[in-house]
Amino acid sequence: MPIYEYKCNACGKNFETLVMGKSIPECPSCAGKDLSRLMSACGFVSKSAGPSGETTAKSSGSSSCGSCSSSSCSSCGMG
Ligand SMILES: [Zn+2]
Repeated sequence: MPIYEYKCNACGKNFETLVMGKSIPECPSCAGKDLSRLMSACGFVSKSAGPSGETTAKSSGSSSCGSCSSSSCSSCGMG
């Protein structure tokens, strides 16, 4: 399931949440729904890493793995 990062425009809190279907998340701090969705670093990562250590995650649509090193997305919560 995709995990998106949001920023609450009301209180400024950043949080991550699973988004299922078209449900709109609420701010866990103030229950506001005026949210800005942030670009998740690694929403989807293929786990089929080859023996060379390279993953196939680089061409996964709009998700940006630019902040990841080539072999691991552990810093993006995929550990
Ligand atoms: Zn809030």
